[in-house]
Amino acid sequence: MPPVKSILVVEDELKIARLIRDYLEQAGFSVLTAPDGESGLGLWRSHDLDLVVLDLGLPGQDGLDVARALRKASMVPIIMLTARTEETDKIVGLELGADDYVTKPFSPRELVARVRALLRRVDAGEAPELIRASEIEIDIPKMRVTVEGRTVDLTPTEFQILKTLAAAPGRIFTRSQLLDALHGVSFESYERAIDAHIKNLRRKIEPTPGDPRYVLTVYGVGYRFADA
Ligand code: CA
Repeated sequence: MPPVKSILVVEDELKIARLIRDYLEQAGFSVLTAPDGESGLGLWRSHDLDLVVLDLGLPGQDGLDVARALRKASMVPIIMLTARTEETDKIVGLELGADDYVTKPFSPRELVARVRALLRRVDAGEAPELIRASEIEIDIPKMRVTVEGRTVDLTPTEFQILKTLAAAPGRIFTRSQLLDALHGVSFESYERAIDAHIKNLRRKIEPTPGDPRYVLTVYGVGYRFADA
């Protein structure tokens, strides 16, 4: 049997923290909880943790500060819990390096599914040379993309965007993170340009561009590649 994964839940609302802990424990994880950022970081320093579930609205040091502190010292996977009103914080959190977010109110089952998906992604390790996602195949060294066995011609920018998204299925990328990934490629340097590239990319690779199957929009935040 694989070793039990340890998860830290930083959440000041005790009822929610307990609910998350119960569901994660039932799913076979070992769980620690902390009611604020300071004690969360303390637990993180003294334990070997596999993932952190981090509430953004915390008393004292807020969730963004905690995410920043975690990212300074490690690549531990982070899932943020956000309220609907924290749209900007959500984007900042993703840009600080959080891997995913779940919006409150959320279903504990969905959170458990996200935790599992993120740990799977981390275990899968570095991006491979060949990415296969259902009917799409991306040969990175050759910069070649095939959809259902048919080669599609992508511009270097479109290729870079597709590669970035498809290398981490399910992970959300903000427009500015996609712009970062385009470093070195010539393009209009504003974030909305990403939308235009995405539109062109979808026209080339999606069976139904208006109802995308691969490159999905995360409303108000950015894009993600379908989680197979
Ligand atoms: Ca809170």
